[in-house]
Amino acid sequence: MNRKTILVLLDACRFDSMTENAGFLEHMIEYNKGAKYRVKGEIPSLSRPIYETIFTGLPVSEHGVTSNFHSRMSCCENVFSLCIKNEMTTAAAAHFWLSELYNCVPYHPFHDRFYWRGDGAIDHGIFYSDDHYPDNYLYGDGEFLRRGYQPDFLVYHSMEIDYYGHKFGAHSKEYESSVSHVTEILAALMPRWIAEGYNVVITSSYGMNDYGMHGGDTDEQRMVPLYVFSPKCKNGRFTDESISQLAVAPLLCHLLGIEAGEKMIPIENTGIHIE
Ligand SMILES: [Zn+2]
Repeated sequence: MNRKTILVLLDACRFDSMTENAGFLEHMIEYNKGAKYRVKGEIPSLSRPIYETIFTGLPVSEHGVTSNFHSRMSCCENVFSLCIKNEMTTAAAAHFWLSELYNCVPYHPFHDRFYWRGDGAIDHGIFYSDDHYPDNYLYGDGEFLRRGYQPDFLVYHSMEIDYYGHKFGAHSKEYESSVSHVTEILAALMPRWIAEGYNVVITSSYGMNDYGMHGGDTDEQRMVPLYVFSPKCKNGRFTDESISQLAVAPLLCHLLGIEAGEKMIPIENTGIHIE
């Protein structure tokens, strides 16, 4: 079975905003062509700590990246390093904090934006350091990596929702428009990804409150969506109860067909319905 897997990581996209705006994704769930979950994000609901949680499957107190001031590389097994161990190719179009966690630190905006050296856990990368980097550019970067390198594991990490959320708050026209915009991009790209045999996972790092902040322990800041499109998982709407964000890393390993990290939750215990 094809093991190639795409992870779309939307920065700061709330569960309710995604549900209200993601017409195509909701259509796919309505027609039983994918699975949807409600994920309770880990805390602190901050960027660096949660990126590390998503890729290692570990809570913040275990992986040690406790704040955005932690400018250092990951010390734990993560989905990128597990791919490399299994001789698979990795790529990411992402914010530079992913480069710092998995490739090299400190990130230099002129030297490290395009990464092809192959000595980090992300083999091929295109990184950005401006939070208002437009989503249509980001998904174009990802498509360049996908078509050019055919990576086994590819991450698209877009930031527009987070940017407008901080500037105008959730429940603003600008925040909702940015969610709507990215879901339209996904509606344009996903049919080809699926036709070419990719597993597709779409989730978010954390949410956003009406003050334009995330970091704390409220549903607005923690509840995020998880969509899975893969023959290796059961289709359906599984949103009555929330599952843990620690499920994302073992899910990705399951889809990639590799053994999960030693400290990750076994996929059978995550609440995700696998085939
Ligand atoms: Zn943010």
